[in-house]
Amino acid sequence: MYQGEAFELSLKDEIYHLVFNLKNTSANVLNSQALKELGECLELMKKNVAKGMILSSAKEGFIFGADVTEFLTHFKKTDQELKTWISEINKIFNDIEDLPFPKVAAINGFALGGGFELALTSEYRIAGIKAQVGLPETKLGIMPGWGGTVRLPRLIGADFAIEWITSAKYVKADEALKLGAIDGVVEESQLLQAALKTLKHAMDGHLDWKKKQADKKAPLKLDKIESMMSFEGAKGMVFAAAGPHYPAPLKVVEEIQKGARCSRDEALVFETDAFVFCAKTPQAESLVQVFLGDQYLKKVSKKITDGCIPTKKAAILGAGIMGGGISYQSASTGTPVIMKDIKTEQLDLGMNEASKLLTKLVESKKMNQDKMAKVITSITPTLTFGDFTQVDFVVEAVVENEKVKKTVLADVENAVDPKTIVASNTSTISITSLSEGLKRPENFIGMHFFNPVHRMPLVEIIRGKKSSEASVAKGVQYALQMGKTPIVVNDCPGFLVNRILFPYFNGFIFMIDDGVEFTRIDKVMEKFGWPMGPAYLLDVVGIDTGEHASKIMAQGFPDRMSFKEKTILQAMYENKRFGQKNAKGFYEYEIDKKGKPKKVLNPEVYNIIKPIVKRTVEVSDEDILMRMMLPMIFEASRCLEDKIVNSATEVDMGLLLGLGFPPFRAGALKYADGLGHKKIVESAAKFAHLGKLYEPTNTIKEFAQTNKTFY
Ligand code: NAD
Repeated sequence: MYQGEAFELSLKDEIYHLVFNLKNTSANVLNSQALKELGECLELMKKNVAKGMILSSAKEGFIFGADVTEFLTHFKKTDQELKTWISEINKIFNDIEDLPFPKVAAINGFALGGGFELALTSEYRIAGIKAQVGLPETKLGIMPGWGGTVRLPRLIGADFAIEWITSAKYVKADEALKLGAIDGVVEESQLLQAALKTLKHAMDGHLDWKKKQADKKAPLKLDKIESMMSFEGAKGMVFAAAGPHYPAPLKVVEEIQKGARCSRDEALVFETDAFVFCAKTPQAESLVQVFLGDQYLKKVSKKITDGCIPTKKAAILGAGIMGGGISYQSASTGTPVIMKDIKTEQLDLGMNEASKLLTKLVESKKMNQDKMAKVITSITPTLTFGDFTQVDFVVEAVVENEKVKKTVLADVENAVDPKTIVASNTSTISITSLSEGLKRPENFIGMHFFNPVHRMPLVEIIRGKKSSEASVAKGVQYALQMGKTPIVVNDCPGFLVNRILFPYFNGFIFMIDDGVEFTRIDKVMEKFGWPMGPAYLLDVVGIDTGEHASKIMAQGFPDRMSFKEKTILQAMYENKRFGQKNAKGFYEYEIDKKGKPKKVLNPEVYNIIKPIVKRTVEVSDEDILMRMMLPMIFEASRCLEDKIVNSATEVDMGLLLGLGFPPFRAGALKYADGLGHKKIVESAAKFAHLGKLYEPTNTIKEFAQTNKTFY
């Protein structure tokens, strides 16, 4: 009857079969074309010659949702235009729901967002056992806009609907079945048959589909008091979980409450208003950008690793914090490793750390005992290079000392097959310089993991001057094998992330000189959205590590990263206040009931700070924010000018994944675009006396004049 780019409609035995199979892609998404075709299929179905309809997907998954790549264009529309767009889609969804015959959605794989909302227009949903459903829109700073917040609460109750939507969770088929969001779960191979059987029961009158249809269009079944208690309680919890920077989840609760005693069509008006509100927030724009950034990184990695042979077995040198962490990460994601150290006790420590992490997984039922045993036996601790001929990849993670590293790397080269790729996990030493003296510098790259390895998603893959593209590809591939997100960066001091982080720390150092209270700086930056302020972050990184890296950065970029006088970092280091690792840094650390370090303020630290303070400068909170963020923005911009990476997206995603830059601000360059480059240049002028650290880059100066942006 109908054959489009996205939908196919056929009629057989008085049943419409509406099949979603978007052309030229592996996943079904409801893009503009698909929505247009859905409307056209609806018009045909309205002709009313059939007695039932089955909605299914011809792909491996059902429908992933609306097409996120179209979102930013929609968000730019005026409120009224957005409302019109939403209303047109709601009209299609409502008309499908109102068709005068029963409908069944056959859900295979993921039915998310708009995809699940479409399935909710049917009276029945039958799912394959591997199916998952959910309305995760709040993750993108928006909320369901095509009837999800209206239909789901009417199906499973307001409390569960609020929980699902505000937590953006994916719900497995069996759990969704228990709550009534799904009506049957069957083997994937039986899905269409089971959906057809259900439909026939409804068509025969054995199932009361009309009641199901009517219930979804009626007010929620809650009395006034019940309703008030449930919504008011939910608001508190949802706000506490989302925090002040993410307005969408709370909006969902308010909106479901408003529509609770309304019919479907009335409630949809509230949903549309709330959706438009969310879509117009800067958070929505940023979170969508982050989603697209993530997709972009995946695409880049896929292209780089095209045809690359995965690492079958690796060797990790050094069983310390990083080497132990990398060994664990590799083994637990399926690539066996040899873990080599020069000290038996370090090897024991590395193995113990791995067992501890695995035991936690077993305790939380994320892994079974058999798998744990398999992972442990796939880490082979050793003190010799004996089996190194068997490995196709080596990660060096020994002490941060160029001489030691060079010796170790030369030994590795002699021990491995000539085709083996060798990577260094150095955090500060130039990859090009480490490759000097190697016989096969083309087989050598940097692979910078973040601490703790099992938790931090980013790995910087560093291309030295002589690194071959095949070696870079192999590094990217190995990072992907470990479940990490790799970003390829060109060699420079600090690589990408630390190069941008240190100017930010330097902003902090200058403010201490100016007598600004460090706890106040932390508060301002945490309010901005950072998980921890700069003083706290330095404590967590380790003041000794920070002080050492700061020197390297100063050598690399003396014009903007060196200091004429003693810095607070040096003073803290000299006083052995290394941070969390020895329980004394800017803050002091006590162990709380859960065994985690808890920070407390001991005024003794001011004895170290006082001699460093050179003057007292009055600053506003806005000044603090700008004095911290401008150096970060400028260095991020310089990394692009110097072609350390290819795109603003890679810079910003690096900061998000490596530093915990607040996702709702989407990275330093996106944040800069939001501030406006003219304002940035004006703001920087105020701090020009602090030197080059506050000098806008040529790009930003140009943007300020031309109104151009990074994105
Ligand atoms: P660490 O001191 O915990 O571990 C270093 C290990 O290397 C020790 O077990 C030591 O016995 C071993 N070792 C020393 N010489 C060796 C040799 N010749 N052969 C084999 N093993 C040898 O240090 P770490 O924190 O794990 O750092 C290791 C590397 O990772 C450094 O280059 C560091 O800069 C980098 N790095 C560290 C972090 C971090 O936060 N700790 C983050 C990123 C990168």
